[in-house]
Amino acid sequence: MSATYDGLLRDAATALAAAGLDNVRFEARLLLGRAAGLSTEQLVARGRDEAPPAAVEAFRALLARRVRREPMAHILGEREFWGLPFRVTPDVLVPRPDSETVIEAALALLADRGRRWRVLDLGLGSGCLLLTLLREFPAAAGVGLEASPPALAVARDNAASLGVAARARLLAGDWRQPGWTEALGGPFDLLVSNPPYIEAAAIEGLMPEVARYEPRQALDGGPDGLDAYRAIAAGADRLVVPGGRILVEAGMGQVPAITEIFRAAGFSAEDPWEDLAGVQRVASFKH
Ligand code: GLN
Repeated sequence: MSATYDGLLRDAATALAAAGLDNVRFEARLLLGRAAGLSTEQLVARGRDEAPPAAVEAFRALLARRVRREPMAHILGEREFWGLPFRVTPDVLVPRPDSETVIEAALALLADRGRRWRVLDLGLGSGCLLLTLLREFPAAAGVGLEASPPALAVARDNAASLGVAARARLLAGDWRQPGWTEALGGPFDLLVSNPPYIEAAAIEGLMPEVARYEPRQALDGGPDGLDAYRAIAAGADRLVVPGGRILVEAGMGQVPAITEIFRAAGFSAEDPWEDLAGVQRVASFKH
């Protein structure tokens, strides 16, 4: 391998393409920037310089991880969501652009940004939904529930680094346990969730970044993918104020079945929200 920055990038792009990846120049640059402690601009400006041996070695180690299809967000330890930086570990689902649809819907439905909205997030993961909402609604107060202790620790870190910890009560708990709603307080004006919704048998067939590296607990929605919605709908009556909203992320094609579940629990369905690919991504209900 040539050890100029440009040479390293070229060889890395080839290796990443051979591993079946698409955004190879982009990813190679991010990994080299991390290994060498340089910004993208600096990498471009110094392309013909020799990289220091320690940077070359660090870069090869990061590259090897990506070639094994470890998610970029795990290797870099962070992912941007709604323009905000979130710490990410293998204990949490990597924040995805699709989930920004929940934020978009909340901003449209709760038009008064300055109100003291009470927001509940079920299944915090990194905290990307709740903590982003607390940033967007500066007077809002949030409660978040998370069943995985290490995930809860990540969400708490993110609450602190984003400056919203004082308005976020982040709790350990599991909607699969009886009485799970009792510790949450409320009622809430808005309930959001990106629950696990993959059919258990389909997880194996997902891309390796997801199937091998992301927490199964954040993906596995049971035999038909809908277990979490049933549990959430069963508790939602006491959690959401009359007139309050529920916004839940959905897998492709799941909105009709989720709508049946929430209708049966006494909620009225509103128009679902599409993600940037035109997929119905967020189901919306009113109490
Ligand atoms: N959107 C994720 C995926 O398809 C799944 C996340 C979830 O189950 N909530 O990889």
